[in-house]
Amino acid sequence: MCSGRVDMGFVLRAFSNGIDGVFIGACHLNECNYIAHGNYHTLNMVLLFKRIMEHMGLNPERLRIQFMSGAEANIFVESSNDFIKKIKTLGPLGNGEGINKDQLKSRLAEIAKLVPYIKVAKREKLMARLESHDQYDTYFTKEEIDTLFNEVVSYYIDPAKCQACTTCFRRCPADAIISVKGQIHIVDQEKCLKCGTCFEVCPPRFAAVTKIVGAPVPPPPPEDQRAVVRKAKEKEETVVQA
Ligand code: SF4
Ligand code: SF4
Repeated sequence: MCSGRVDMGFVLRAFSNGIDGVFIGACHLNECNYIAHGNYHTLNMVLLFKRIMEHMGLNPERLRIQFMSGAEANIFVESSNDFIKKIKTLGPLGNGEGINKDQLKSRLAEIAKLVPYIKVAKREKLMARLESHDQYDTYFTKEEIDTLFNEVVSYYIDPAKCQACTTCFRRCPADAIISVKGQIHIVDQEKCLKCGTCFEVCPPRFAAVTKIVGAPVPPPPPEDQRAVVRKAKEKEETVVQA
């Protein structure tokens, strides 16, 4: 019922399925029927996604939001006809921009993996309800989006520090931590949402989770080298040797 339900992932899925343009109809701003003002969230999402499209080399005009009420059939007809005309001028997705099918597929897949991270990183701006619509033109800047992608964060568990206490495993919302009793824990980078919970909850006395910004993540240790060396035991061995 609410345009606020149109998630960034839905738009991405449409483009990934070969749709040439996405048109979102939303209620007029400040005329929300449910007082939730979800249409502001949709507008913010659209403005952000248009910048992401530019970053991917796609024409941002392939995504449009139009505000209208249920009584404004004329606006719906005019704006959707105009959008269809625009998309026909732009041609098929990717072709019109000089991007081949494989490049397009891989760019869309790369962004799809980062959707949770983008939503977390831009959470406050995505939820904002600005008073002046003029601000929206510069709300998300090209430079900001470049930084967002150049500084993608990853979380890595340092094998030398992890004590297999399982705290991160129990708190991870994405089931992205490989946990085996008595073994160093591993972040499954394919499943990780980059929410940072593991970083926050790892006990300070271990401080085993590292936040990596804009750099590759080291590979996990081989399976036969994942046994945890308990800190207490390590100390004991040092004393015996001494
Ligand atoms: S960053 Fe979040 S999703 Fe990723 S492993 Fe840590 S807790 Fe799980
Ligand atoms: S919370 Fe820290 S010490 Fe405990 S299993 Fe996770 S990374 Fe290892």
